[in-house]
Amino acid sequence: MATGSTTSIAALLRRGERSFSFEFFPPKDAAGEEILWRSISELEELHPTFVSVTYGAGGSTRDRTIEITGRIAKETSMTPMAHLTCVGHTVAELEEILDALAAAGVDNVLALRGDPVGGPGTPWQATAGGMSYACELVELVRRAERFAVGVAVFPEGHRDAPSLAQDVEVMRAKYDAGAEFAITEMVLRASDYFGLVERARSAGIDIPIIPGIMPILNLNSMRKMVELSGREMPDEVLRRIDPLAEDPAAVRAEGIRIATELCDELLEAGAPGLHFYTLNRSKATREIYASLACHA
Ligand code: FAD
Repeated sequence: MATGSTTSIAALLRRGERSFSFEFFPPKDAAGEEILWRSISELEELHPTFVSVTYGAGGSTRDRTIEITGRIAKETSMTPMAHLTCVGHTVAELEEILDALAAAGVDNVLALRGDPVGGPGTPWQATAGGMSYACELVELVRRAERFAVGVAVFPEGHRDAPSLAQDVEVMRAKYDAGAEFAITEMVLRASDYFGLVERARSAGIDIPIIPGIMPILNLNSMRKMVELSGREMPDEVLRRIDPLAEDPAAVRAEGIRIATELCDELLEAGAPGLHFYTLNRSKATREIYASLACHA
């Protein structure tokens, strides 16, 4: 939980208190905007350690990341983090964005490469005058001497990593460049998360690694997201969800139960916190949060 006046997520995590954080994305229209701010204000009541706002793959929502994180910094009690990617940007543009974030009062950046323009699984092409890998962006953000820097990590390895050994080398490169904490892609099994933490620790990476959580609320959209990440839904999850496939309310209820059990298992075995992918809604996150064993 956030306490005191620091707004560096790295410093907040160093305090060793359990971290809860919520991720949002910039909406495309006024209706989405209303839902976002309602969710933000409902989740503020849970006093998250921080909240984060994603960076779009391109187009007009990109400026909105600066706008929304700046507004969270100024108008709420919460500590915001802006995601930033290398996609389509020169180094000079990335520096300008960092200046704008600093001017907006944002002290934390999640430094990412971003997915290839053609979507996950298609070949990556760096922008001329830009960057190829997240570790370079981590270095740029650190050089600004203004932001705490987080990075993305992957419980089963990044979909394009040739091996888990190479995946951990990439993690080490981001750590060496100055990453102070990491957030995982959505965790499908607790054992995958603990495998990742073990690989990181063996490679000398000692930063907090926060598991990313997304409950199954709709089976088809979850299947698509898991497929895009180059993974498969675990059999033990499908055995519970598949028989309910014709009943959306039952799928949702079981999805929330599965996510809550996963969160409890992660926290009980030492995860430093939980990062919820909220999809700009607050209800499912609040349900899971309220049901956690640590809140009983
Ligand atoms: P990198 O660490 O650069 O890795 C990308 C690929 O390159 C990997 O396959 C890696 O193995 C390989 N690689 C890295 N360094 C080297 C090297 N030196 N030599 C050879 N290969 C290398 N996307 C968005 O567009 N906006 C967001 O806001 C966003 N938020 C995210 C938040 C989280 C918590 C997570 C987990 C992901 C997020 N993503 C977001 C998706 C992310 O951008 C993609 O998963 C992307 O494909 C990888 O980004 P990365 O920062 O891990 O890249």
